[in-house]
Amino acid sequence: MHRKTIVELQAALEAGQISSVELTQAFLDRIDHHQDLNAFITITAEAALEQARASDDRRDHEAPRPLEGIPIAHKDIFCTQGLITSCGSRMLANFVSPYDATVIQHFKAAGAIILGKTNMDEFAMGSSNETSFYGPVKNPWANQAVPGGSSGGSAAAVAAQLAPAATGTDTGGSIRQPAALCGITGLKPTYGRVSRYGMVAFASSLDQAGPMTHTAADAALLLNIMAGFDPKDSTSVDKPVPDYTATLNDGLKGLRVGLPKEYFGDGLAADVAQAIDASVETLKKLGANIVDISLPNSTLAVPCYYVLAPAEASSNLSRFDGVRYGYRAADYDDLNDMYRKTRSQGFGEEVKRRIMIGAYTLSAGYYDAYYLKAQQLRRLIADDFHTAFGQCDVILGPTTPTTAFDLGAKTDDPVSMYLNDIYTIPANLAGLPGMSIPAGLGEDGRPIGLQLIGNAFEEARLLNVAHQYQQATDHHKQTPEGY
Ligand code: GLN
Repeated sequence: MHRKTIVELQAALEAGQISSVELTQAFLDRIDHHQDLNAFITITAEAALEQARASDDRRDHEAPRPLEGIPIAHKDIFCTQGLITSCGSRMLANFVSPYDATVIQHFKAAGAIILGKTNMDEFAMGSSNETSFYGPVKNPWANQAVPGGSSGGSAAAVAAQLAPAATGTDTGGSIRQPAALCGITGLKPTYGRVSRYGMVAFASSLDQAGPMTHTAADAALLLNIMAGFDPKDSTSVDKPVPDYTATLNDGLKGLRVGLPKEYFGDGLAADVAQAIDASVETLKKLGANIVDISLPNSTLAVPCYYVLAPAEASSNLSRFDGVRYGYRAADYDDLNDMYRKTRSQGFGEEVKRRIMIGAYTLSAGYYDAYYLKAQQLRRLIADDFHTAFGQCDVILGPTTPTTAFDLGAKTDDPVSMYLNDIYTIPANLAGLPGMSIPAGLGEDGRPIGLQLIGNAFEEARLLNVAHQYQQATDHHKQTPEGY
């Protein structure tokens, strides 16, 4: 049962082949059995079974809701009422949220069951899940490898089939990059498509939540639930939500697929390049036309992001001061000493690095040279996409330059860690939707991700292309040995 997609599980529940209690118990057993992956921070076994029982009862006398009885895991960045919401940090390790994030409310209203909260890089800052206060997550494909980050727990949980699907968030690649490294499907929607209310803020102009699943069809089901206007998030967009499942089967004849030359240059591993080339051939066979395009400023996306994201983070994280909620140092002399000790002890190294960079680039005298310049560059990067979408309908490239690297391989070199997101960050800076889908295995037997980037609010098209690709290939069906 655990190898089924949500679409298949829905059918099994509907046909009475399995109950939600049995299904939930099966996933809880797997979570328990594979605790060594460290994919979960909190497991809500009892509450999950109670929700599943209620769901089974409900199914007896009411039409099932869209995700009735389906167990889902949530990244520990989403506030969940009555549960610890740690964001992977010591700072929030004791924080029990008094309310649900809008995304969580939507899942509950759709009938989904919460299995638990998944491990993540501290405050979503990282590409390997190694900055988590709770320790790194292992990649199910190779236990010595990272699962990617920051949604590493969610990606590993889905890849190891500890949950049929999970939520993630993506500020610079944190859904797509771990999806690629763990061989699953991940979608970052257009900025503003999904409410950020109740999602712990990292860089507010970039953060977006999205689904992490086995297939594009499942991602469409989940996006139907997650997307929509929320008056509680002033950046959420008031635009009707289409039924993302309705266009999955549209043909790709005449689809213009843009290949940005900057995504195929130095730094791209040969085995990844080969897999992406093969994917292009598959899409051609499905009727797509290939167009060569250029995103000339995308090579500057990483430095641009590492000015803007830390600037926003330094502001967002000022709220963690030991006064309002979360961690407070035990011993201190006066208020300033309390702030200093609380923040020194509560935050990890990477978070501190970002706060310092952000405070520096926003300071008087440096603002114009760094922050303002980065904002101008962000505009140029967005303009590149605007031009490109005059020539093509979707952009295709690799999600990451290499397959999953080993634990510890990049922890001493932040810049090499940051460069892992070179292909994902541009879409965040431009606010565009992006998706990663499995495209085969590398020479080391670790998964390769194919990235699709769409124009604003064109999630339906991305899902359509991904679904057609998955109908023609089996990469998304491959599972790590032992799971
Ligand atoms: N790896 C990037 C960072 O460390 C992106 C993280 C994310 O998308 N949350 O900031």
